[in-house]
Amino acid sequence: MLPVDCAYTTILDLTQPLDPQYDRETVPLLAAAGRILAAPVISPLDFPHWDNSAMDGYAVRYADVQTATPDRPVQLTVVMEIPAGSHPQTPLQAGQAARIFTGAMLPPGADTIVIQEHTQRQGDTVTIQQAPYPQAFVRHQGSFHRAGAPLLPAGMQLQAAAIAVLAAAQCPQVTVYRRPRVAILSTGDELVAPDRPLQPGQLVDSNQYALATLVQQTGANPLPLGSVPDRPDTLRAAIAQAISQADVVLSSGGVSVGDYDYVAQILTELGGTIAINAVAIKPGKPLTVATFPTPASARSTLYFGLPGNPVSALVTYWRFVQPALKKLAGLANTWEPTWVWATAHQDLPSDQRRESYLWGGLTPDTQGYRFALVAGGHNSGNLISLAQANALAIVPVGTPIAAGEPVRVMLINA
Ligand code: AMP
Ligand code: MG
Repeated sequence: MLPVDCAYTTILDLTQPLDPQYDRETVPLLAAAGRILAAPVISPLDFPHWDNSAMDGYAVRYADVQTATPDRPVQLTVVMEIPAGSHPQTPLQAGQAARIFTGAMLPPGADTIVIQEHTQRQGDTVTIQQAPYPQAFVRHQGSFHRAGAPLLPAGMQLQAAAIAVLAAAQCPQVTVYRRPRVAILSTGDELVAPDRPLQPGQLVDSNQYALATLVQQTGANPLPLGSVPDRPDTLRAAIAQAISQADVVLSSGGVSVGDYDYVAQILTELGGTIAINAVAIKPGKPLTVATFPTPASARSTLYFGLPGNPVSALVTYWRFVQPALKKLAGLANTWEPTWVWATAHQDLPSDQRRESYLWGGLTPDTQGYRFALVAGGHNSGNLISLAQANALAIVPVGTPIAAGEPVRVMLINA
């Protein structure tokens, strides 16, 4: 049984990112939210594109106004008005000022902005009552970014600000990694699809739905393959097909030690290398991870045999599969789940051999966050209580946490 941290490291080490040369596509900018840049974006533009004013006021020559004080103000002649968007071309001469507005281009010859609040205007004359510092309130051309240098790095996930930068750089399309393909397979004689009549002893294949939702939320393309009965031949064929179609395969069920748990044996028969066959995590101990060589690529196919219990399948997805999918998708960093520290609302029991993940509600309070277990019991089959949770508290092996003590919490659905 591998400790959770070792299992995490092993899985991330086995995960090879998509190839930025081949595994890429071009998408319109408005469809690029959440996608990951496959190449750095380089712009031929300086940012700002030209010297411009950061304030409403007057563009001046610093030499003209450097001695201004309330007692000995300086008077300048206002020779032009420059609203944002106009292109001043006449150079400012000694003794002259230009009325200017935020974002407007500085005229040639001007080097400093005097803010409106430090001036008084009468007709064509402006009185400067206070000397600005040199180059005050000028946003200089190229001071944010120089043309030709990478504007945004490869491996970055595109959110609103980055998409705005791409728009500003006049990129109507953007080259991103393709979405990873993730096959989803359920195993079990007891499983039926939600639209089929439920016979005694049967169970709806809810894991298929949970996993397809999670895969989609992680930014990958789910390939839902349905459920397969616990018959070695059928299962072998289904697993072989899944491996041939996807970058990652997620199966659920059939990885415990029961008589009908065939997955691990089939993975070996199909030429897979099993890297993990049990993890010291509760729930989720039977997690099985294997790799399969891919004929056409240097990257191998990753196989996660998740436990069948619905909560166990989800917990192991959040803890292990989601980070691996983020790395595979080309994201340069921040694959890890999001953690916060919170105050435990109740006593949180530990397990003697496994790290425990207890589901509950994380809410902000005056100290930071508070974590409370959901009502309804912590049974790894109880999806209904999990559906009320937004976080998992992590209780280290053999170290219970008392009410009021800090506990590390992993955000889910984040
Ligand atoms: P297994 O890991 O195959 O022994 O499955 C453990 C338990 O999880 C089974 O007894 C089922 O109750 C449940 N289970 C397995 N697969 C699914 C699934 N796809 N959807 C919902 N529950 C499942
Ligand atoms: Mg089963």
